[in-house]
Amino acid sequence: MDHCAMPGLTPVDQALDTLLSEITPISKTEEIPLDAAMGRVLAQSVTSQLNIPPADNSAMDGYAMKAQDAVSGKTLKQVATVFAGHPYTGQVKSGECVRIMTGAPLPEDVDTVIMQENTEADGEQITLLQDAKSGSCVRNAGEDIKTGQCVFESGRRIRASDIGLLASVGCAMVTVYKPITVAILSTGDELKKVGEPLSDGQFYESNGPTLKAALSKLPLNIIDYGIIPDDLDLLTQAFSDANKKADVVITSGGVSVGDADYTKDVLEALGKIQFWKLAIKPGKPFAFGHLSDSYFIGLPGNPVSALVTLHQLARPMLRKLSGAVAEQPLRMSAITVDALKKSPGRTDFQRGVYTVNEKGQLEVKATGAQGSGILSSISAANCYIVLEQERGRVESGETVTVEPFDEFLT
Ligand code: AMP
Ligand code: MG
Repeated sequence: MDHCAMPGLTPVDQALDTLLSEITPISKTEEIPLDAAMGRVLAQSVTSQLNIPPADNSAMDGYAMKAQDAVSGKTLKQVATVFAGHPYTGQVKSGECVRIMTGAPLPEDVDTVIMQENTEADGEQITLLQDAKSGSCVRNAGEDIKTGQCVFESGRRIRASDIGLLASVGCAMVTVYKPITVAILSTGDELKKVGEPLSDGQFYESNGPTLKAALSKLPLNIIDYGIIPDDLDLLTQAFSDANKKADVVITSGGVSVGDADYTKDVLEALGKIQFWKLAIKPGKPFAFGHLSDSYFIGLPGNPVSALVTLHQLARPMLRKLSGAVAEQPLRMSAITVDALKKSPGRTDFQRGVYTVNEKGQLEVKATGAQGSGILSSISAANCYIVLEQERGRVESGETVTVEPFDEFLT
């Protein structure tokens, strides 16, 4: 049997390709101060107007001299002391040196630095205890970034080190894409908002708070519609309103076949939605499509399924819509400590903890029960164990693929 072609199930990669192909990234931009730019997406490439570092400077506290004088046993005359931020413009002749501090600009006549631990000072007489190659302990102008160099391309999601790099090239303002707006809704009569008293047969809903927390890692605004009961009118009202106000409407629950779930009916009336049965475990039921003024994503109701599909499918889509270039998740090979239950036909995202064993090998241990309602299996984990669609049961000691949790889940 060709399990990849399991009737009725859409492979995850295929669903993701379809989803991404239907997204047109937003084009609205804004100029914001650099210190507000963390996590935002650059809408214009940034070119440096400066060399970084701007001038040759010393990498050490020590003595700077001409390369020909950097010979062990030689004694040089110190003619000046150069501090960071205070260039020395006097001459340094052969047989002379300057005392120089880390980060201080190199005087024009010299090109080599010997760290002070490799010298002996007697007043102005500095004896070298080591040879040094020409250019030693010198940071050259432009060795990090050159004038005219592109620092970041448009589409770059700005990270902490990027803020520093942008600051170092003098970029006080950046042009970024405007944040998209995402509406989140939980559906189901059985759900209660945390903080309210529970009635018989109800339980506290977790998808809304989880989605909100995970989505807060992306550059977007959230409109939280809370819990909408399984009621045709209330669902119609909520979806219609969300469609007008948001770029993306994300719901959880009601996309599988359930008698009391009206979500499907309402959506079919409001837009063009594909209801998939994904070849993914957890997370089989999944919906995607267009309402009149927004994109729609319908996540499964089970909490692990909702978070896994949000991560694996919705996030790349939201990133693309936000103007960011695609980023591939990090995946690595590890040895599984446990045997893993698996049937061919769906790609599994089991949850595990990866560690490095005493032999230096990456190994992974599953976090117990893997049911789609067992949210603690994610909280206890630091990675997915991604088991290929066609794979069957995995024995202990076999090689599997792990995908470390990134900032979205941690
Ligand atoms: P559904 O697809 O609506 O039938 O939901 C599938 C399962 O997920 C049911 O057991 C629901 O009770 C549960 N579920 C749905 N939405 C939520 C939610 N927001 N928080 C926690 N569990 C949920
Ligand atoms: Mg439901």
